[in-house]
Amino acid sequence: MARPNQARLDLRALRHNVGVVRRLAPRAKIMAVVKANAYGHGAVTIAGALQSEVDAVAVACIEEALELRYAGIATPILLLEGVFEPGELQQAAQLDLWLTIDNEHQLRWLEEATLPAPITCWLKVDTGMNRLGVTPGSAPLFFQRLLASSNVRNEIVTCTHFASADDVMNQQTEQQLAKFDALPFPTLRSAANSAGVIGWPQAHYDWVRPGYMLFGNSPMLEPHVHAHGLLPVMTLVSAVISLRDVAAGETVGYGGTWVATRASRIATVTIGYGDGYPRQALNDTPVLVNGQRARLAGRVSMDMITVDVTDLEHVEIGSEVVLWGEGLPLAEVADNANTIGYELTTRMPARTPRIVVHD
Ligand SMILES: *Cc1c(COP(=O)(O)O)cnc(C)c1O
Repeated sequence: MARPNQARLDLRALRHNVGVVRRLAPRAKIMAVVKANAYGHGAVTIAGALQSEVDAVAVACIEEALELRYAGIATPILLLEGVFEPGELQQAAQLDLWLTIDNEHQLRWLEEATLPAPITCWLKVDTGMNRLGVTPGSAPLFFQRLLASSNVRNEIVTCTHFASADDVMNQQTEQQLAKFDALPFPTLRSAANSAGVIGWPQAHYDWVRPGYMLFGNSPMLEPHVHAHGLLPVMTLVSAVISLRDVAAGETVGYGGTWVATRASRIATVTIGYGDGYPRQALNDTPVLVNGQRARLAGRVSMDMITVDVTDLEHVEIGSEVVLWGEGLPLAEVADNANTIGYELTTRMPARTPRIVVHD
């Protein structure tokens, strides 16, 4: 038997989730964010499946864009952080990559370049995230200079990014929107990440930029009605490879952090932090064994976890185990590992094969 670990990818769920975005933001174009290997799902697989579903995709850097272009993906691609050095501009123009312009350096490189074709530019304005983007005060001048450059295509999009849109009670989003709406020049606009799409209809504008929700997960701090229809794209599965009975008082795993309070049955599952399951997951983190809920018992090892299956029936060697995905929300596992679902899928190593199960 081959090692049973798989990150199963349901591309029907992916397309369904695009439909959710389209229903929530019917007038906006959709830019699917597929940076960091599509949050660990596999950028070529995901962008390939989305080609005819979305208007553009976005990645963090030119290397990620090249991977998609070399795989034959023809969708417009935005570089979310723009270029890191002027030499990248030639390739960006040749391959029709769109650029974020978020500082004076990037604008000057663009103004001074001799390019084979003009480039589509998104001007990023910092409305309060304080990470990237030009100040609202300097934005009009940046905009004028972009308009004046022969290296820039006419249709400029002004964009910004939210710091706290996952929290519908947080005033910061309204403050950011007020600054964004006050910009004194008419362009196409974009602000909404997944949390903006779900929680802030007034932030949809001309383009929405969802990432996380496309993979079937809600970024919202509280359950949100607009996120209810999302379906998980990745289901991480493994299997039981060993079973044993331990007496009350015995411990399980490194450091003996889990102590049996009664006679217990322990299943060993062949997946660990070397396969993308978080070592930070605490005792009692939920897992599904044969579709039934069980709980982590003992520390996560590199290649294995141990699960308390005392109360479950019909657990045997080879029983399927779901770590997250269908039947077990990613966010629930992330909560038990003191992190967010974004990090769990994004850190999935190449060691765990991605298998497309529904095309
Ligand atoms: C990553 C990113 C997004 C997507 O965010 P999600 O929370 O995954 O929807 C949108 N816009 C920018 C600028 C980003 O960096």
